[in-house]
Amino acid sequence: MSAELDELYQSIILDHNRRPRNFRVMDDASAHAEGKNPLCGDQLTIWLKLDGELISDVSFQGSGCAISKASASLMTAAIKGKSRGEAEQLFTKFHGVVTGTHPEDAEALGSLKALGGVSRFPLRVKCASLAWHAMHAALVQNDVAGSTAPVTTE
Ligand code: ZN
Repeated sequence: MSAELDELYQSIILDHNRRPRNFRVMDDASAHAEGKNPLCGDQLTIWLKLDGELISDVSFQGSGCAISKASASLMTAAIKGKSRGEAEQLFTKFHGVVTGTHPEDAEALGSLKALGGVSRFPLRVKCASLAWHAMHAALVQNDVAGSTAPVTTE
């Protein structure tokens, strides 16, 4: 990665950490799930509002490192207005890029590719995927009974 790109990506992460998007509790959510990353101390809650297959609104709150917060913020911006299937597909691509198994998918990620650099730091991969695991858990739980249970990133 060129130094210029590195700088651009870092500024995206810093911006989303400083001014996280969709950072609020959602009172009328269809589903929510908590995510915890004990290794780093990150914890957050993701709220989803579902309109059939459509994710019509998404928000999060929590505390943690800059990577976990920026990733949650970027995720909410990326999946709002998408279908559940599209959100899950994006998670698969994002996961492949941050774990370094599918770096070629980075171009399909838009601003989310700013987090691609964490593939060089294995411990940071969990920080970057935490919000996504929680989003996935909220979607799955909505299928079951609308109930919630905490998740921990693997
Ligand atoms: Zn972290």
